[in-house]
Amino acid sequence: MTSTVNDEINITEPAVTATGGRPVPHVKVAIIGTGFSGLGTAIRLLDNKITDFVLFERAGEVGGTWRDNSYPGCGCDVASVLYSYSFAQKSDWSSTFGKRNEIFDYIKDVADRYGVEPHIRFNHEVVDARWDESTRRWHIQTTGGDYTAQLLVAGTGYLSDPVFPDVPGLGDFQGKIMHSSRWDHDHNLDGRKVAVIGTGASAIQFVPEIQPKVGHLDLYQRTPPWVGPKPDKPNKGFHGWALRRVPGYRSFRRGFNKRGREILAFLFARPGLAEKTVQGMAQRHLVKSVPDPELRARLTPNFAVACKRLLFSNKWYPAIQQDNVEIVSGDIGKITANGIIGSDGKEREVDTIILGTGFLATKRPIADKLYGRDGVRLSDAWEDGGMKAYRGTTVAGFPNLFLMLGPNTTLGHSSQLVMIEAQVNYVLSALKVMDRRGLASVEVQPEAQELYNSALEAKLEGSVWDPRTCNSWYTDSTGRNPSIWPAKTSVFEKGTKRFDVQAYQVATLTGVEKAARISA
Ligand code: NAP
Repeated sequence: MTSTVNDEINITEPAVTATGGRPVPHVKVAIIGTGFSGLGTAIRLLDNKITDFVLFERAGEVGGTWRDNSYPGCGCDVASVLYSYSFAQKSDWSSTFGKRNEIFDYIKDVADRYGVEPHIRFNHEVVDARWDESTRRWHIQTTGGDYTAQLLVAGTGYLSDPVFPDVPGLGDFQGKIMHSSRWDHDHNLDGRKVAVIGTGASAIQFVPEIQPKVGHLDLYQRTPPWVGPKPDKPNKGFHGWALRRVPGYRSFRRGFNKRGREILAFLFARPGLAEKTVQGMAQRHLVKSVPDPELRARLTPNFAVACKRLLFSNKWYPAIQQDNVEIVSGDIGKITANGIIGSDGKEREVDTIILGTGFLATKRPIADKLYGRDGVRLSDAWEDGGMKAYRGTTVAGFPNLFLMLGPNTTLGHSSQLVMIEAQVNYVLSALKVMDRRGLASVEVQPEAQELYNSALEAKLEGSVWDPRTCNSWYTDSTGRNPSIWPAKTSVFEKGTKRFDVQAYQVATLTGVEKAARISA
């Protein structure tokens, strides 16, 4: 799948180590974000004795999406043994699936324990990063000061910037409005009239928590999701004891979970089989949970299971059948000063609107800030053909840029941590190759990127994620699916195990530049 073209070029221009006459700090690796991706990269750098790096964090605390999402009931639907770093396993998860506070504490603990904190520049939001061809460095402007770096790793993921839906009148509402990922815990919901927009992974977690407290809840459901039962259990008894005490048991459980989930990738590539198995399981959960056939019909999705993310909850169906909940199906007509006009034309007054409307996943805000070779902005490079990368990580025209959870790395069947760790391996391997060969930069060949994406598109065809038959937040306005990794995670791991330099155009440093770099 890789190109064999490999043009080596020597850079002869002198290195520039100053901006506007003022020297700026230079690092080997600059990482954007301190979520699982950024911290995982940092830990593995330290593990490999590379200490010349910084992490830019726009907030004042680590944690990424698990810091920002603190809505009631927030948690993970992938078992904690797999939704954690393989190199930093935790023995005392309270139950099968981690709750938000437990995961957030885990992230903070790992950052502290592995000595990442001194490398973090908090309240440093990257506003602009430009590749300088003459110095073969990234020039990074942050709200806390400027830096240069040889490698830029964007650990910004795809769940960092919320979607505020394009519904007429959103700005007219006079009550309280909040997005699930920016929950205002000072806003007391007791007894209030609340509208929830969205029935995705976030809403199915917070609705059951707030439903008993609120006076009334209008649930605006544009599309019902497939929901399976969540087999959550406290880690007690023999299993809990073994997780803590028996050497190898945690790793065994992790491996078992990971391999088991690979079966889902096999099924999701074959919609007929997925319908008989996974969809059947969700259908039975629906039938068991919702006795009223009319309501059941309104809650039955009209798309193949996992086309949109398959959800898991034991609380969702019971909560939305309570007397204080009204399900309003279809598109929203308009938001008014006092409430929402639904598809039935009726205005329902509320004092709080909660948006469970997801994230900007196919239009990454960070892409507006990254400028590659010849000053081309990443979002412009992606404007026509949609988001594309090589191995979900590198992009033609953007030397020494590594995107964590870049295009086609989103999983519908397993833990994102598996993908993150694979990408970190790729970055580490690239650094080793660059050091060994004295390379200043690596840039994926456009031909390699195209071949890789053609293979991806062929793999998506006929699967539950095929953009021709499945429209979801995974798909973009060009009709592509630039989000999903449509195969087993082991295939991605294999492809990112070693940096395949033959797919790249590389450039070497001159002696002058090496000396300049040391003195910077
Ligand atoms: P989401 O899955 O994208 O769901 C957004 C919801 O908002 C959908 O029901 C969507 O309806 C609806 N919506 C969007 N725009 C709308 C509009 N203009 N009018 C009416 N409805 C609108 O977002 P999310 O629930 O925040 O979850 C995002 C992702 O976060 C998940 O898919 C998952 O990857 C991750 N997550 C994971 C977990 C976990 O347990 N691991 C938990 C929470 C979140 P349509 O379906 O009709 O578009």
